[in-house]
Amino acid sequence: MTAHVYDARLRRAGETAAAAGLAGLAVTPGADLVYLTGYAPPPLERLTLLVVGVGRDPVMLVPALESPAAASCPVGDRIEIVGWADGEDPYERAAALLGSGPFAITDSAWASHLLGLQRAAGGCSFVSVSASVPHLRAIKDEAELNLLRRVAEAADRAFAEVLSARFGGRSEREVAEEVAAALRRQGHEEVDFTIVGSGPNGASPHHEPGSRRIERGDAVVLDFGGRMDGYCSDITRTVVVGAPEPQIEEVYEVVRTAQQAAFEAIAPGVPAERVDAAARAVIAAAGYGGQFVHRTGHGIGLEVHEPPYIVAGNPTPLRPGMTFSIEPGIYLPNRFGVRIEDIVAVTDDGAVRLNQATRDLQTVA
Ligand code: ZN
Ligand code: ZN
Ligand code: ZN
Repeated sequence: MTAHVYDARLRRAGETAAAAGLAGLAVTPGADLVYLTGYAPPPLERLTLLVVGVGRDPVMLVPALESPAAASCPVGDRIEIVGWADGEDPYERAAALLGSGPFAITDSAWASHLLGLQRAAGGCSFVSVSASVPHLRAIKDEAELNLLRRVAEAADRAFAEVLSARFGGRSEREVAEEVAAALRRQGHEEVDFTIVGSGPNGASPHHEPGSRRIERGDAVVLDFGGRMDGYCSDITRTVVVGAPEPQIEEVYEVVRTAQQAAFEAIAPGVPAERVDAAARAVIAAAGYGGQFVHRTGHGIGLEVHEPPYIVAGNPTPLRPGMTFSIEPGIYLPNRFGVRIEDIVAVTDDGAVRLNQATRDLQTVA
């Protein structure tokens, strides 16, 4: 991203904060800081704080020893960077930069930092970014959409590789390692998660791969993702080892139809909850309503879970450029689970799938 991209984002962040009735944003290291400045220091006990005040120029308070690193970020020569030295109280320095009023603070800000700010900045109050300006990063620009498409395609290729791996007789952990290796071979710089839920374990949506030996006839839920150039992938496919029993085929078809219904419900202006309802209606009509135990999806970008959430009760109107997962599932305790997940992007008149891996039920060895 070039510096003017960050200039525009910083400007828009100030406008968004103003529209939400805030005095500004208080941004600690994490996805919000990367998004607004391109600066990606690790979160540490020493305070790093970007203040985007309404009607003021952004200023970033950093530990003095990190000033050179901060100055070399994409906006390092365009925003004011203030160093604080060990032995000083960084929260007093921050208080002077914040002034007064309600600020939205990064969700992942450490409690120690928020408590320090609350102690020193008596004139300020804090609300979470997700509660006050949840859609700060929700509408992706063309460059972001390209990065999300690239990382989704890499995840698709990893899935294609995994299909030729042996499942029967191996542990979930061994298959999870194959998935991670495939993600890396296909260009992922980081692997964030590799869920392998075989047979009855597939009925636990976030099953941690373990020592269970995969057997013939098992349905296996594979849900994996990671990062390329900072942007996340997240895909789920359910495969079967050898010939599927009839109920696996039946449930698979219901989930696949539900996922398609969610996809077709997406258009600009449609409330997020209606996409969830579209998937849920298909599953309920098939008699499995009680076995679809989670929301239909989540936004994705610099974080694997971010707004908008595709969930009952979320009236957020979808907008072109929003990207999120659609991932209905059916979970039959002690038997098996099925989930199918793609990342989609809202377009001017509907949506496109960023994942193109086949959704036909695949048989593995
Ligand atoms: Zn999940
Ligand atoms: Zn997933
Ligand atoms: Zn997901």
